[in-house]
Amino acid sequence: TATALYGRELAAAIRAETTERAAALTASGRPPKLAVVVATADESSAWYVRSIAKAAGQSGIACDIVDLGPDAAADTIVAALDRLSADGSVHGVMLQTPLPGGAALEELAGAIAFGKDVDGANPLSLGRLAAGLPAHPPATAEAVVALLDHYGVELAGRRVAVVGRSTVVGKPLAHLLLDRNATVTVCHSRTVDLPGVTSTADVVVAAAGRPGLITADHVRPGATVIDVGTNPTPDGGLTGDVDAEAVVHRAAALTPVPGGVGPVTTALLLRHTVRAAADR
Ligand code: NAD
Repeated sequence: TATALYGRELAAAIRAETTERAAALTASGRPPKLAVVVATADESSAWYVRSIAKAAGQSGIACDIVDLGPDAAADTIVAALDRLSADGSVHGVMLQTPLPGGAALEELAGAIAFGKDVDGANPLSLGRLAAGLPAHPPATAEAVVALLDHYGVELAGRRVAVVGRSTVVGKPLAHLLLDRNATVTVCHSRTVDLPGVTSTADVVVAAAGRPGLITADHVRPGATVIDVGTNPTPDGGLTGDVDAEAVVHRAAALTPVPGGVGPVTTALLLRHTVRAAADR
């Protein structure tokens, strides 16, 4: 049976360090502040934003939620990002998805000042990441690597299959893993024979947003499986992309959903915010 790779312990350690740095910044007259721009009525998105605000408060970081409503025009969103980018009291700026009218995050997030881009959404951040230059990685992608490190999962030279090629998770994660000398394969919705590819990997990362996509057939016995998926269930809960009941009998280790990648993601977003405040 697979070991459960819980994220809470790592998240608590990151939060403790962040809380200390936030207190020092506040004491020196620079209280850290994160602004989250929201333009959706999506319930799971609202839940995530509330959890960020709560965690920020617990770490002594101010969190402004700038709610523009689900009908906000792209221009209005860009204007809000411009204003927050120019506001000296704000250190981190994040644009929550989904966006109205199918606007692309990577189009609008270019308006987030690079130094305040704490969730790595500005294409400049992704480009720098790809080039091996300093930038804030998207917190979710970084959380996957942080969790693997925390549990001592070796990456150098090993095969990692990433399922999902989005700009916020799959692509930046591939770059972070390459930086760690992993042998990376990125799979997506057009991949032929997904189980054939993922079952050759030592580590499988599921980030497709498809409940139950990764079954026992997708996993080599003894592999480590990281489930990034956060899919709402009809009863108001959360489920991942991995068929955990089947995979738990084949993998050596598996992250639970909720309680795996999620808590680490939020903790890293806040760490980025105090770093951005300290760097300014
Ligand atoms: P997305 O919809 O932008 O991208 C999904 C990717 O999965 C695409 O590249 C697509 O090609 C691929 N895909 C879809 N169906 C597939 C299939 N059948 N086989 C193989 N690949 C397939 O999603 P995203 O924003 O990258 O998010 C992915 C998941 O991660 C979602 O469940 C999301 O809620 C979750 N997420 C979790 C966190 C967290 O902190 N835990 C943060 C962000 C996103």
